[in-house]
Amino acid sequence: MIQAPDKIYVEEDILDHLLTQKILSKIKSAPVTFIEDYKKIGQDKSFNQRADEDKNSLALASKKGELVKSIGRMDHGQFYLFHEIDCKYDCEYCYLQHYFQTKVPVIFVNRDEVLEKIEELLNSFDNPYFHVGEVCDALAFDDLTEFSLDIVSLFTKYRNGVIEFRTKSTNVENLVSIVNPPENVIPSWTFSPQEIVDMIEHKTPSFDERLDAARRCQEAGYTVGVRLDPIIRVPGWEELYQKMIQELFTKLDTKQIDYISLGTPKHNKVLFETIKKRFPDSPTILGELFPSTDGKYKYLKFQRVEIYKKMLLWIREFSDDIGVELSIESDEVKELVFN
Ligand code: SF4
Repeated sequence: MIQAPDKIYVEEDILDHLLTQKILSKIKSAPVTFIEDYKKIGQDKSFNQRADEDKNSLALASKKGELVKSIGRMDHGQFYLFHEIDCKYDCEYCYLQHYFQTKVPVIFVNRDEVLEKIEELLNSFDNPYFHVGEVCDALAFDDLTEFSLDIVSLFTKYRNGVIEFRTKSTNVENLVSIVNPPENVIPSWTFSPQEIVDMIEHKTPSFDERLDAARRCQEAGYTVGVRLDPIIRVPGWEELYQKMIQELFTKLDTKQIDYISLGTPKHNKVLFETIKKRFPDSPTILGELFPSTDGKYKYLKFQRVEIYKKMLLWIREFSDDIGVELSIESDEVKELVFN
């Protein structure tokens, strides 16, 4: 069942757009407000009020400028999509809290341009990799947009590229409706122990719901990604995370896991201050986080290494060969963890 937002904003210029009409027809119950420019939504509210209230709304807009961006910090041929921005969930560690001026999730309805751009890149790069979910949750609105259906059809035609949908959502009806999905479409879930979900991943589906969505995708034929990031070092974290790993790899087929990514908090100064303002008691800022040489607030190196080594040990009890990677870590830390 579609979960309607409290309110829906529509830019006046795109009312007649096919995707606008399709989305509005699916959420008739939400009151519609017409606006000139989505960037002005919430301007009159304080930051905290905007962050708390506007996430429950949805805006439909037209994206001017780049819809698919090259990722500077990654290798050439890696891209992320700007087809939607911001998120209806509210994780305390999320950098989107400060990244955009507005706090309302936005769906850009000029979808055809996104698909055209992806196709152009699939034609001009040997093996491009597309990340969906850097600036939004990749599947949170898939029931409204059916974006995944367009993507699967495009990537069935172009096998040279890979696209990853990074999500915490359970919105997989479109994905599982596809018979024999192509192996180059990878839904991936971020998992946290339920105790951590309750503490800091507000408004998100539970651990069990995410696991069920991932399992359903595997049953439908997908290889899935598993992201355990950020791992939060709360008292008793070892027990929580070891139990979570046992549940994950008992219920998921380890042969249909593309990769596991491990990460720990890495807040830049602005994010650190934002979390302090919105969630002063957040375990993601309290305790043992210190500014690192790159200016980000992190656990100390020996603590990160300890976390990764323990996680790796628990994962290896279930599989010797699943690829495990560390999210944005130095070569030195990787060396200490893997060798
Ligand atoms: S689900 Fe992802 S994008 Fe959404 S608030 Fe949480 S971390 Fe941010």
